[in-house]
Amino acid sequence: MKLETRQLELTEYIKIKPRLRLKFTKSVPYSLKRIFQYLILDTLPYFPEFKNKIKMILVGYTVSGVAFYNQYESEKDKIYIKLSAEATKKSVAHELTHHIQFFYSHFKDEAMKYSYLRLLYMKKIPHGEKACDIYTFARHVDLANGRSSYFGEIKLDSKKLHEISREAIKKRNIEGYRQYIRWFEEKLHAHHSRGSPHTRKNEEGCGSGKRKI
Ligand SMILES: [Zn+2]
Repeated sequence: MKLETRQLELTEYIKIKPRLRLKFTKSVPYSLKRIFQYLILDTLPYFPEFKNKIKMILVGYTVSGVAFYNQYESEKDKIYIKLSAEATKKSVAHELTHHIQFFYSHFKDEAMKYSYLRLLYMKKIPHGEKACDIYTFARHVDLANGRSSYFGEIKLDSKKLHEISREAIKKRNIEGYRQYIRWFEEKLHAHHSRGSPHTRKNEEGCGSGKRKI
């Protein structure tokens, strides 16, 4: 299988913006609705495999943290995330990547149509926060924002971070290297990043959503 290494132009994504319904829970402050709406609509084009596969995104609000994915309330064609006022495109993309961790097979066939996504979908996307970050950074350079990550603050430019994330996934998916997260962390340190250890807050993770909306 030939794998694309070039950067996919965003225009290629934009053409295939998926059709779906965006719904807000009552907890979302009125002043944030439009901001969240734009944030999600800006992030969705990076997920072309969601086209015709996701019917609804339900958005809630969280005061603490940046964003959460609610695994209990999500279904394969319905995503429930919570966002805070500090949420970024990267944090939304991270939550959408959690959804793929849980429903990989729902998206695989569609994803394999896009050469740039094939590397990510060659094998089942592993669970875990660090894996979720690596797969988010690897998806597109625009999402490789290391300011707030499960590896601490990553002081690498987006292009480099995107590249080493794809390299790490190649190690895993092509070379069968199981310690790809460790390899990624070593690369971060080699690039003089401040890969500080996780705080407890980080380790609670955003995949541990509560059942109640
Ligand atoms: Zn997460």
